[in-house]
Parts: sequence; structure tokens; C-alpha cells
Amino acid sequence: MSETAELLEKVIYPKLNHEIVFGDLRDLRLRGKAYIATCPHCGAADHFYALPDWKFGKCHRGRCIYHGKGNVLSWWTHTANRFNLKTNYEILRKLAELAGVNLQEHSRLRERSDKPDTVADVYRLFISMGQQAAASMPDPFADYLSKRGFGRKEVKKAGVIYMERDRMLKALFRAGCTKELLEQAGLFTVGFGDIYHIVLPYYDEHGVCKGFVGRLDPWLPEAKETPKYKNSFGTTKDVPFLFHLALAPGIYKVIVVEGPLDALLINIKCGMKGAAAVALCGDTLSDAGLAFINSSPAPVVMLALDDDDAGRIATLSLIRGIKKQVLVVSNFLGHKDPGELIPAGGPETFGEVAAAAIPAVTWVFRSVFERAHSLGTGAKIDRLAEVASIHQVIPTAEGKLEFIREAQKASLLPEATIRAIVEAA
Ligand SMILES: [Zn+2]
Repeated sequence: MSETAELLEKVIYPKLNHEIVFGDLRDLRLRGKAYIATCPHCGAADHFYALPDWKFGKCHRGRCIYHGKGNVLSWWTHTANRFNLKTNYEILRKLAELAGVNLQEHSRLRERSDKPDTVADVYRLFISMGQQAAASMPDPFADYLSKRGFGRKEVKKAGVIYMERDRMLKALFRAGCTKELLEQAGLFTVGFGDIYHIVLPYYDEHGVCKGFVGRLDPWLPEAKETPKYKNSFGTTKDVPFLFHLALAPGIYKVIVVEGPLDALLINIKCGMKGAAAVALCGDTLSDAGLAFINSSPAPVVMLALDDDDAGRIATLSLIRGIKKQVLVVSNFLGHKDPGELIPAGGPETFGEVAAAAIPAVTWVFRSVFERAHSLGTGAKIDRLAEVASIHQVIPTAEGKLEFIREAQKASLLPEATIRAIVEAA
């Protein structure tokens, strides 16, 4: 719809009626359901008629030009004739005047509402421009993503953003963003579009975009000042990446992974019913983040962190804090994480390793008491004491019993000793 047509249909015409527009016709009055009047063309009395929801009138007289199918006298034409107006703009202005619509003020409002004037507006623009750019990103980035399981289709589905700093800045300025607004949005202060070209939208627990996570260009070395993932202003460690998906109705299992691309890949490709993957974007979770996971309605949490030392430490620390039934994926069939397993083995292999996930307690004792036969009793007691506090966060009596059983099996200590250690924790 053209701007004029939209203005007429949505703003001006709803405020008009036949009495206003055809008000100059002789003997205009309501008779039954229709307005009737003397026809302005043929002059036949009471032959001109218009139903209330029409924006035109017709004539009953057979030879009149307003008689018959498709022959009408529109509000638009009548107003032009009535006031002897020549241009479309004159007619529009007159109809607006009759409707009591201030055209100038209206167009000012329009202009203002089209211009970005909040950080959320900038985010919307940034997302749409960045996702468009992602459809034709340079080969090295496309190749990297493709190796990670993100073909063209997945890039689109995941909402991946590709960003080149200068080009994006120019485009946002062209779209009407001010310097102040761009500074507030914080998109250009973290190396985004410079050494972090691949960027992902970050949402809060309600699914509202609050910032962005950048992925360090994969061929650059990770360092303290250039971590693998960098968050823009507005993101928080307190809400895991994609956590809003874990709150969707019907989700009973939250899968926790390290990398945001891994979480996206699981959600997009693995089709696991009732499960939602979220990412730590690293290997730590704040207390607030832990509280979010604990307060989510899903009864089961499955930890699928990287199969390396940092991942194991993070797994143990999450097990200490999560007050739900916790399962651990301890084997990615020789791969480091879901993001390596899925592209290599296919999406169904993640379903397989997930099905083979073991209870957290089993995992804990297995990893803590590996090669326990060589340990003395004192060393075994020390190790048990390290993990004894987990017993407290296990939500069910059955789970607590399982803890004691697993502790016995792994440590070969007497049950009474184990119970005493657990109670002292
Ligand atoms: Zn007529």
C-alpha cells in the first residue's frame, strides 16, 4: 500500500462519513439503511445512494454514469469536484481537513517512529543487517561455520550475524542512528567486527535481546584479553545463553554446554523432544545463573561440558550447585564436545551419547576415585570429604541413598564412615 493510500485507509477515512463528504448534496438524508440524495451528476431526486460502510455513492438511474457495476462516485473524486481541486496532494489535504487530521503533525510522527531512537531499535537494525550480511559472509568464516555444522540453512536458522566494523557503522548511521545511541548500544567497543566477526544475539530469560556474544575469529590465538567468546554491554553471566528456551512449555530437560554454537546446533539439528540446550559461554556460571537453572521448571539437567580438565572442574562445580536430577554426558565418542561430535558423527550421535549419560553421583565417584585401589584409607576419606557436600543438594531421598551406595562402591569404605563424612560436610 502506498503511503497516501495507507494514510487514507487507516487514518483519514475512519474519521469521515457520508454526511461530511457528501454534505453538499441536495436532500442528503438517511432512509432505512442507506443515505440518499439528489444525484450530483444526473440531478435525479433521491436516486443517489450510499451504504454506511461505503466510501463512495451510486445512482439508481439507468443512464447515469454512476449507475451499474463498478461505476461509483468516490469520496476522493467527489471532494476533488466539490472543491475544484487539481492535485492529489490538494485532495488529500482537503480530506484530512474534513477528517480533522493534522497532516504535518502526522508525517512528523511517522518520521520520528521510523528513526531508531532506543538501544532496542539499534539492536533490531543490527540484527537484520548482520543476518543479511551472514548470508554472503567471506569464505573463511563460512568454511569455519560449515565445519562446525552450520551450513547456510543453519546460519539462517540460528540467526548468526556477520559484521565488519566500518561497513556496519556506516549502515547504522545511514539508517539514522546517532553517535550517542551507538555508544549506548555498545556494539563497537569490544572488538566486534574487528577480531570478532561472527556475532550471536544474546537474550534475557524473557527472550528479549539484551546484547551480543562475539566469537573470536577462529584462526586467532585465544588470550586473556582476547577470549574465545566476548560479550557486549547488556549481556550478563547470570542468564545462560538461550536460557529462555529452557523455560518454554514442555521442556523437562535442560542441556548445559560450554559453547553457544554448540547449544544452537543441538537445538537446531538434534530434534530432542522436551530438551533445550543452553550455554555457559565459557566454563563458569554465577550464583545467579545457578539460581535461574534451579528455579526453571525442568526437573532434569544434563551436563555436556567439554571433555577436558576445565570441563570436568566445571561439571563438578555445577553438580555441587544444581538442586535437580543431574545427568552427565561423559563420553563424546572421542570428540571434545557436542560441537565436534555432531558435525563429525551426525546429529543422531548426540542423541546416543545423551541416552548414555550417567547420574551425576556415579560420574563424581568415577572421576574422583579413578584408580582408587592404590589409595590408602586416609586419602580415600579426604577425597570423599571433597565431594560430600553434593549429598546435601540432591533433592530426593532416593538420590541421597544412591550417593551413599556409589560412594561405597567407589571408595570401598564402610557405610558408617561414609555417612559420618557426609554428615560432617
Ligand atoms: Zn445520477
